[in-house]
Amino acid sequence: MDFELSEKEMLLQKSVREFAENEIPPKMEDMEETGEFPVDLLGPMGRLGITGVITPPEYGGVGLGYMARTIVLEELGRVCAAMPMALQVHHMACAGINDFGTEEQKKKYLPPMARGETMGVVAVTDPSGGSDLIGMQTRAEPQKDKYLLTGRKCFITNFDTSDFWVIIAKTSEGSKGLSAFIVEKDAPGAKVGRKEQKTGLRGSNTGELVFDGVELTKDNLLGQEGGGLAVAIKTISETGRLGMAATALGILNACIEEACKFAIERELYGKSISALQAIQWHIADIYADLEIARLLTYRASCMKDQNMRFDPESALAKSFACEAAARSAKKAIEIHGSYGIMREYAVQRLLRDALVTIPAGGTGEIAKIVLSRAALSKFKKR
Ligand SMILES: Cc1cc2nc3c(=O)[nH]c(=O)nc-3n(C[C@H](O)[C@H](O)[C@H](O)COP(=O)(O)OP(=O)(O)OC[C@H]3O[C@@H](n4cnc5c(N)ncnc54)[C@H](O)[C@@H]3O)c2cc1C
Repeated sequence: MDFELSEKEMLLQKSVREFAENEIPPKMEDMEETGEFPVDLLGPMGRLGITGVITPPEYGGVGLGYMARTIVLEELGRVCAAMPMALQVHHMACAGINDFGTEEQKKKYLPPMARGETMGVVAVTDPSGGSDLIGMQTRAEPQKDKYLLTGRKCFITNFDTSDFWVIIAKTSEGSKGLSAFIVEKDAPGAKVGRKEQKTGLRGSNTGELVFDGVELTKDNLLGQEGGGLAVAIKTISETGRLGMAATALGILNACIEEACKFAIERELYGKSISALQAIQWHIADIYADLEIARLLTYRASCMKDQNMRFDPESALAKSFACEAAARSAKKAIEIHGSYGIMREYAVQRLLRDALVTIPAGGTGEIAKIVLSRAALSKFKKR
């Protein structure tokens, strides 16, 4: 077990921190107001290697892996958590195509995504199938030599800033009845629907995708017909949950910084409130949440890089980090007194952002199902 970052990872961390501190703050007011992701930062992120951080070099990426990706998302999230939210879903599309795509699909989609010229999406959720994937009603009806895609996906990140979509749809019934497709956004019958106005993570676009008889061929299939559940589960549990854990980790970094700075500066009774034990306990709790979330998220990232199975570890990292971020942001607000709920102070945004991370990528209850299944299977009667 090695707790040191490699030289490459430290360099990456430094360059992403500089990028995040210089490039994101001038955009943040606009992101909060309009709820729009700053697409003009995609190119610079491509040049920095972070849109293609997990994409192998043969497909135009830098191939640094998941630990490096976690560092990238954490650093961006420390400044503004909407940035890693959008980027992590883009990475999910990269991972899905890299893991399940044909050579032709990889060559077509991965290099421009790595350069930050195009953006991707993985769209699983639909109104009747959130946690219940099999319950989805978006259908790709098999015809003679094509499929007809009809339905609606909801809560989709990057829905209108992306160039193509990885869609999971029903091609028949049951767990082998789901299939994954790559759908171009200008395909006839495909359109973006309603944009959601979220409480937090405002600068990452979330909304609907609508399909009305979109004609797809076998070339659009990602993986095998009937293999959509595997595409969804692998991309969500390995890339999506880790991505949300790292996003929440970014928020926790911001919580400890904002809480400590305010506590040191604010004076009451003729001294800094950081001298009050009640404030110190809040700070200790935030610090503990940050350190535990970081250990869990880094461990799961290393397991992914070592090709180990890590479903419970990623579910635990995700659910712990997102709940911890919400809990810690609330404590950071309390340290600020009434200042904490004022728009000028970052802590109110941290709480709004943290709350939105909780369902994204799978709810806490679904994480508990993964954890209890892992624990019970260890003690199963033979
Ligand atoms: C900011 C954001 C971004 C998102 N981005 C994407 C995206 O890019 N792509 C995408 O496909 N989806 C995306 N989602 C959707 C997200 O993955 C779903 O919202 C999530 O999986 C939960 O589904 P649901 O909202 O339909 O809740 P439901 O599944 O309806 O759940 C409602 C409640 O029931 C509980 N519940 C459900 N099943 C069980 C069970 N078996 N046991 C116990 N309790 C249960 C849930 O935990 C929850 O409390 C995003 C969501 C958000 C908030």
